[in-house]
Amino acid sequence: MPLDILIVGAGVCGPALATLLLRAAAGHRITVVERCDALRTGGQQIDLRAQGIPVMRKLGLLDAVREVCVHERGVAFVDKRGSAKFQVDVNDSGKGGQGLTSEYEIMRGDLVRVLYEASLRASEAAAKKRGGGGGGGGVTYEFGVSVESIAQNENGDGGVDVKLSNGRQQHFDLVVGADGQGSRTRRQAWGDAAGRAAFHTLHSYGAYFTIPRDDAHDSDVAVVHHLSGRRMIVFRSNNRPDTQCYLFCNDGAQAATLRDATGATGKKSVAERKQIWREFFEDSDAWCRERVFAGLEGTEDFYAHEAGQVKMGSWSKGRVVLLGDAGYCPSPISGCGTTASLVGAYVLAGELARHQDDVGAALAGYDRVLRPFIDEVQALMPGAPTIGAPQTDWGIWFLHSLGKFVTTLKIDKLALSLMPEGKGGIPLPEYPELKLAE
Ligand SMILES: Cc1cc2nc3c(=O)[nH]c(=O)nc-3n(C[C@H](O)[C@H](O)[C@H](O)COP(=O)(O)OP(=O)(O)OC[C@H]3O[C@@H](n4cnc5c(N)ncnc54)[C@H](O)[C@@H]3O)c2cc1C
Repeated sequence: MPLDILIVGAGVCGPALATLLLRAAAGHRITVVERCDALRTGGQQIDLRAQGIPVMRKLGLLDAVREVCVHERGVAFVDKRGSAKFQVDVNDSGKGGQGLTSEYEIMRGDLVRVLYEASLRASEAAAKKRGGGGGGGGVTYEFGVSVESIAQNENGDGGVDVKLSNGRQQHFDLVVGADGQGSRTRRQAWGDAAGRAAFHTLHSYGAYFTIPRDDAHDSDVAVVHHLSGRRMIVFRSNNRPDTQCYLFCNDGAQAATLRDATGATGKKSVAERKQIWREFFEDSDAWCRERVFAGLEGTEDFYAHEAGQVKMGSWSKGRVVLLGDAGYCPSPISGCGTTASLVGAYVLAGELARHQDDVGAALAGYDRVLRPFIDEVQALMPGAPTIGAPQTDWGIWFLHSLGKFVTTLKIDKLALSLMPEGKGGIPLPEYPELKLAE
């Protein structure tokens, strides 16, 4: 300590890690490179759950999150006329587990901004602690920059020699890949084939976009409409001036076309991808059909994605370590992607603080301490995701009937009240070395 650290990716967990590291040791010199030209604030509603909530509390950021939370009262499952068959409400009692809607629903861009600004404040505070900012410590963001190559310096001090896309070459004690589920850092450090093979598709494909709000239909209850063929249309509006529309298809038999539609193959333009999504829902006779198509055509923030999980035998190689979706994406189906990335940042910073200048011991500790939690988060409900997206109209009828039975008898509420607040009941480890609020 202090260390020269490169964080690749200014998404959710990159800035969170920078904040945690600087709170523990004011002298760290942290560079965050983000391939986009500015902070990437796109994305729709994500949720903070389970052990992610105490991490934000420890960072002193839970009130800031609460201020920008969207207020979703629950999720209604509707038929093709838009009439609710049953509704699952949020558990806002502060006790027990979280249901489909978390107590902390937040737009991804708002969470990214909260964490980015916190890292800048932590950097200023660290400069004051160092007495005027000498020694080059703190965090520096470089936008529009990515990593060209990584070479482990195994014969020297065990650090990493990095070549950046702006031509600069620099030596770091540690490189942290926080660059999302398709992580290039993973492919650079583990090899292209191994890096790609770590991603396991769930054959669940989604398109996310913003459409104009329609006060006649949109409220603080999200709406889910199932179509046969394992398809879904979702609207979420809450207290926001616009409405989020999601289209999902969980049909593995259509994987080749759907991968084109997400952009994963890089073969189709945005207009072509939108057209594929339209064709997938063309046969719908739902009340919202024309609204979805008009919204899809007019939207400027179309984002599509193939859901899957990243599984790695080890999250570090030499002095390169993976964080968040890059190392252990649990998929949006788990509802815990953001939470896992924040808990990961907390444990990595905690282990580095605990082991001081022994980076190898810290990385081993990160794997050992975090793995049971990630195993728990990645263990999806048996049959997921297809179990929640029936193939036939009969299957949809059965899902609606079961949902009505469970919610009428309040079995869902009872189940949540009996569940532990933290995923799997696994306690968040304590790191007094991080010098956090609690
Ligand atoms: C634009 C966008 C929209 C999203 N929308 C949703 C959504 O609607 N719902 C949902 O559940 N999840 C969404 N996610 C995923 C969600 O943010 C993550 O699952 C979760 O929060 C974990 O965060 P993370 O920090 O590990 O990864 P991310 O939040 O994915 O952040 C990764 C960051 O790394 C950057 N990056 C990628 N490659 C490189 C590179 N080679 N060099 C430098 N930087 C790089 C990316 O631009 C991004 O800023 C979205 C992610 C992105 C990037």
